[in-house]
Amino acid sequence: MKTKKMKTLLCLLLSIVIIAPASASASASATNFTTTTTTTTINKYKEDDTNHDHQIFTKLAAKFWGLSDERIKNIALGAKMPDITQSGFSGNFNQQWSHGLLYGKNQKRMWGDADQDFEGNLMGNLSGNNEGWNHSSADIFYSKNDQKNGDWYIGYASHYIVDVTTPVHSTNPLLNRLDVLTHHFDFELWIANNLEGGHRLLDAAINDKEYYTITDPRKNLQDVAWKACYWNIENGYGKILWDLYKKDGYPTKENSGSPELVDNAKIMIVEAVRWARGTIKWGLDQYNQWADQY
Ligand SMILES: [Zn+2]
Repeated sequence: MKTKKMKTLLCLLLSIVIIAPASASASASATNFTTTTTTTTINKYKEDDTNHDHQIFTKLAAKFWGLSDERIKNIALGAKMPDITQSGFSGNFNQQWSHGLLYGKNQKRMWGDADQDFEGNLMGNLSGNNEGWNHSSADIFYSKNDQKNGDWYIGYASHYIVDVTTPVHSTNPLLNRLDVLTHHFDFELWIANNLEGGHRLLDAAINDKEYYTITDPRKNLQDVAWKACYWNIENGYGKILWDLYKKDGYPTKENSGSPELVDNAKIMIVEAVRWARGTIKWGLDQYNQWADQY
């Protein structure tokens, strides 16, 4: 009963805070999009529609593996799409639900199923209900020797694991941490304004030469979300990062925020890119797709 009440409240709050701006930005670019669109049409999405962090992370990750420019671009286009295809109220609040995995204290699962979307887009859903876009997945296309669409799905899947590297996509706000919800967009705006400009947070990932290995997509995503969660006081980075963000007054602008905040945000960016690298490697290893077939 208590959990149900909390979920309802969380649902309402998330709808207000998350849906409105996301749907506004996505609707303009999604006007010629229908649910029956083929992946060929999907790929027509322009790279420069919006300045999208997911594209930036995925490009960097795909470049790390020495893929061709065309493959890099295709994977990056896939990475951007979940914010367009799952925006708004359609499909049972699917952006709010699918792009998060919010934990409470002691890794108590409270909200979201980003782990199922990640798994679904990579390999279908092992428990039966495929959460992959258009009920498809990377493995389906790769098995038909359609590398281009398979790659696109790898990019699409990577969106979810990158999302949950942020405390705002992994922290239950209803434990006296409501600012994680009310300043969700401020935080993402600060990151966007300081990724390639301002504090140049991305440089940390450019200089980093490591990646994480995906072993079990669903389980890996759960662990990633818990590591970013504010309530993980044992081995997480979310609490330190968010406390600093709050202390600095929830900055949004280029070059704003303390050096301590910048250092800790870099830890998060490195995590995001390492997991994006790991996701691409997993796909190309798993389905034997290293040879370029474009
Ligand atoms: Zn997202």
